[in-house]
Amino acid sequence: MTEIGIVGGGVLGLVLGLRLRQQGHEVTILEGEQSVGGLASADSIGDVRWDRFYHVILGRDRQLLSLIEEIGLGDRMRWGATRTGFYVDGTWYSMSSALDFLRFPPLSLLQKFRLGATILGASRVRDWRALEEVTAIEWLTRWSGRATVEAIWLPLLRSKLGPNAEEASAAFIWAIIVRMYGARQPGIQQHEAMGYVAGGYDTILPALRQHAEQAGVHIRTGFRVSEVRQLNDGAVVLGRHGEILDVGRVILTTPCGTASALCPQLSTEEHARLRRVVYQGVVCPSYLLKRPLKGYYVTNITDRGLPFTGVIETTALVNPAELGGRHLVYLPRYLAQDDPVWGMSDADIAEEGFRGLQRMIPDLTDKDRVAHRVARARDVLAVSTRRYSADLMPPMSTSLPGVSIVNSAQIAHGTLNVDETIALATRAASALAPGLHSNTPAVLHA
Ligand SMILES: Cc1cc2nc3c(=O)[nH]c(=O)nc-3n(C[C@H](O)[C@H](O)[C@H](O)COP(=O)(O)OP(=O)(O)OC[C@H]3O[C@@H](n4cnc5c(N)ncnc54)[C@H](O)[C@@H]3O)c2cc1C
Repeated sequence: MTEIGIVGGGVLGLVLGLRLRQQGHEVTILEGEQSVGGLASADSIGDVRWDRFYHVILGRDRQLLSLIEEIGLGDRMRWGATRTGFYVDGTWYSMSSALDFLRFPPLSLLQKFRLGATILGASRVRDWRALEEVTAIEWLTRWSGRATVEAIWLPLLRSKLGPNAEEASAAFIWAIIVRMYGARQPGIQQHEAMGYVAGGYDTILPALRQHAEQAGVHIRTGFRVSEVRQLNDGAVVLGRHGEILDVGRVILTTPCGTASALCPQLSTEEHARLRRVVYQGVVCPSYLLKRPLKGYYVTNITDRGLPFTGVIETTALVNPAELGGRHLVYLPRYLAQDDPVWGMSDADIAEEGFRGLQRMIPDLTDKDRVAHRVARARDVLAVSTRRYSADLMPPMSTSLPGVSIVNSAQIAHGTLNVDETIALATRAASALAPGLHSNTPAVLHA
């Protein structure tokens, strides 16, 4: 019997498994897909492979950078100074330096002053809990004014949250400001310092897997869990194909809805709480191009008529040589669960996205497109709504002594990134540790 079974071999499950193994536990990770990595995993586009969704590493991602060192990839880190764009009423603007900010025509001098004060003020806030009491829009309107909210903040919020932007609490925008503000480092021309590992997550994930396995973690891919049951002396995990695994404890790292569906023995209240967490989804076409676009790593879009919420030109950071000399662009579209776009075919999403991009860059032709693909994920980010951490955030412990939940919905004031995911895994490994040595259930909260 393995001591701990972890459901889900995304970054969270892998790092949690590694840390628990380093504490001396027997760990088996069960991943439904044929390879580990979940949202961070890579896929083919044309004749190259790169992340299905865009990923960037910031200088402040200390947990991630130290994991990259730990798995032996420190010398494969690449850094660059990137620029940020804004696309407003058919015009591209740079928003990459203080000078760009001062020149930015869509805002008056007073509006710029108030916007700057908002960013500075937010970056100094330490107690994010108070910010959970108000919506981001209310809070930003108070500090920046309605016009700036419409011109800048709402597009930014929509680029992460789609139609859920109006529901988010101020704690969410605070987390984004702190993350963005921290990316600017003196000495790098005021531009944002961003990085990646040569080869992308297609290099990181196999190295992480190998490191975990060398430490003694068992990893089973292609094991889709269909049910988790509490028994008298432990728990049992049932696989979709009839496999059964006896374990002392099970830790689910899947989204809340999946955790609820997999554990029928949870109480009615636990099911209700898990099901009330609102998830944001994303469809994300990406294109391999023969030419670069505008050289902005991220472009925020204020035009609501475009079928995506931002443009990520990955090769504004990543050396195109990594991608056979081509240029890689993602057009993320964040969606609510009931959005009709989920029903569209990949071909239609890719086509609509490319036509939208051509509206922004009129000299982009069909001949410039070498290949495309579409990635989708329904449960990407638990929306940080008002009073989220008190009312909705699921605790790690459940009423079943052998079953715990550790998932990204427990990152109350996060922006969805790997660094936070690793921090959660590390926190959970030490929080869960006392209960793992006995059959006594630990009382755990995220
Ligand atoms: C569009 C997008 C852009 C992003 N950009 C960045 C970025 O720039 N920088 C950054 O640091 N991070 C970024 N991220 C975030 C990063 O990818 C996530 O934080 C991280 O991958 C989350 O890992 P996880 O393990 O929590 O979740 P997941 O990756 O979702 O892992 C859950 C795993 O559980 C498995 N699973 C589910 N159900 C079952 C079952 N029944 N049985 C067995 N296995 C199951 C799934 O297959 C999956 O592998 C981005 C994410 C997206 C979607």
